Amino acid sequence: MATTDVSSAAPDLDVSRRADPSGYRVIPAKHPWRVAGTVVAALLIAVSLHSILTNQRWGWGVFAQFFFDPAVLVGLGRTLWLTLLATIVGFFIGGLLAFARVSKSKLLSGLSWAYIWLLRSIPLIVLLLVLNNIGYLYPTVDIGVPFTDILFAQYGTTSVLSVFAVAVIGLSLNQAAFSAEIIRGGILSIDQGQQEAAAALGLSWRRQSLRIILPQAMRAIIPSGFNEIIGLAKATSIVYVLALPELFYTVQVIYKRNLEVIPLLMVATVWYLIIMSLLSIVQFGIERYFAKGATREVQAPLFGRLFGPGRTARAIAAARATPVTQRAPLAAFDRHSHDVGRIDIRRVTKRFGDFKALDGVSLAIEPGEVTAIIGPSGAGKSTLLRTINHLERPDAGFVSIDGEIIAFEQRGELLYELKDPAIRKRRAGIGMVFQNFNLFPHLTAVENIIEAPIAIQGLAHDEAVSLALDLLDRVGLSDKAEAYPRHLSGGQQQRVAIARALALKPKVLLFDEPTSALDPELVGEVLDTIKELAQSGTTMVIVTHEIGFAREVADKIVFMENGRIVEAGAPERVFNSPSHHRTAEFLAKVL
Ligand code: ADP
Ligand code: MG
Repeated sequence: MATTDVSSAAPDLDVSRRADPSGYRVIPAKHPWRVAGTVVAALLIAVSLHSILTNQRWGWGVFAQFFFDPAVLVGLGRTLWLTLLATIVGFFIGGLLAFARVSKSKLLSGLSWAYIWLLRSIPLIVLLLVLNNIGYLYPTVDIGVPFTDILFAQYGTTSVLSVFAVAVIGLSLNQAAFSAEIIRGGILSIDQGQQEAAAALGLSWRRQSLRIILPQAMRAIIPSGFNEIIGLAKATSIVYVLALPELFYTVQVIYKRNLEVIPLLMVATVWYLIIMSLLSIVQFGIERYFAKGATREVQAPLFGRLFGPGRTARAIAAARATPVTQRAPLAAFDRHSHDVGRIDIRRVTKRFGDFKALDGVSLAIEPGEVTAIIGPSGAGKSTLLRTINHLERPDAGFVSIDGEIIAFEQRGELLYELKDPAIRKRRAGIGMVFQNFNLFPHLTAVENIIEAPIAIQGLAHDEAVSLALDLLDRVGLSDKAEAYPRHLSGGQQQRVAIARALALKPKVLLFDEPTSALDPELVGEVLDTIKELAQSGTTMVIVTHEIGFAREVADKIVFMENGRIVEAGAPERVFNSPSHHRTAEFLAKVL
């Protein structure tokens, strides 16, 4: 601009006026404070090293003499043993305490709470000294039947409990209290949908905990867990009060004799440094292992390649050796086990507190029928679906499938509640697909699918893998067998979830808004999959907001509101001439 002061004008970048445009030089910004900081740090390091190496009193000669001293090595061995045993026992008891603490039994959870409270309150040193003097309280250890005179064996307490045993027990009991809370924290960090999905597949409580919940919880458990282990490795030095010659006690014994205090403390320090460094490396590897499928980018496991491809990968490769010629249709998926699937919902009522989510709902669904449940949010649609596989227990009424009541056995007028294994067995005949997919994020697509057939139907591993590959092929995902859920799109995840539900060859399939969490362009692929399934003769109940889809696939439309079925009937009838004004109002809003 003509009026601009030339001296403060924009830089002269008119390249054409320069003889050599490449001649612009870049001058990096100056950071005087950073330079000063670096100089100070370098000086500090130099001064420290100089003092450590030249100050004779550090006594590096003595240090070298005792570093591999047999007594020191024996002490080091004891320290390592104490750490290892107390870690294993402590975390094992801690795990049991954590599961007891989250258990529904008030007594179990209360006991666990009390243990944790007590052991966290008692200083470790006091605990060790009490245990060491337990022989005074109980001079003998008796093995027999409590409250009787029957006695099989009797030992002197001090002869059974060595000082080492006392140390291991004390450290473990103390460790258990702290690790219990760490493990509980990990368990609480897992979304409840994971446990529900595992339960809906019919997995046992043990399997849910060990295969689904704990491996995921490990990600949260490991960092603070290793903090604890490292703390424990150091805390083992406290057992010197028992005069147990572990590393620290051993160097004490030596320096009391030769008065070389600092060099011997350095021996212990450097050994502790080495132990902690090794532990940190182990932690890194374990964290990597449990990060499977947890991040968007694919991480190769640190030690994984050492053992070559895993069992599942080998089975997949073997199954792939015989190439599939063309995609098999879903509708033709083996249906020998779902010839029937009559659902009978009888006057089911479900309350949450004072609120009636279901109010005497009755509905009969014929084998092979496809039923779509529609209705406003909060109508009780999900609750109704969840009572069908007993994820919700009805307060009154019951649901039966092929005459079997899911959680009860009927004898005359009485309903006897069944035990968990029996409920799980009946549940396995009911597949469920959730709004949020609830795939297990730490398992690949194939691993997600084979879990239940192996656990519940006792299918051989390789057989389960080929079943899973067949199913993935049918839902159009044969190339995603070894992908983790996080590496799949929402639509693909939901199709894997459908394949997972199908793997048990259920006679009833439940879908709770299977497309509501999907981007609009992904809805179609999932609906197509379900449409194909609708032809397979499986009884299906679908809660959906996709009215067009419901009209196309459903044999029956059920409209729910305020925990009641307002009306039910054939799609043409309900959609074209609803008999209830609430249905008409709802349809006017969504169509
Ligand atoms: P829909 O699936 O039709 O949207 P839901 O079956 O999820 O409705 O819920 C029906 C009603 O029950 C809602 O008002 C909801 O707030 C209530 N509800 C569902 N689950 C619970 C629960 N666990 N605790 C308390 N209220 C619940
Ligand atoms: Mg719902």
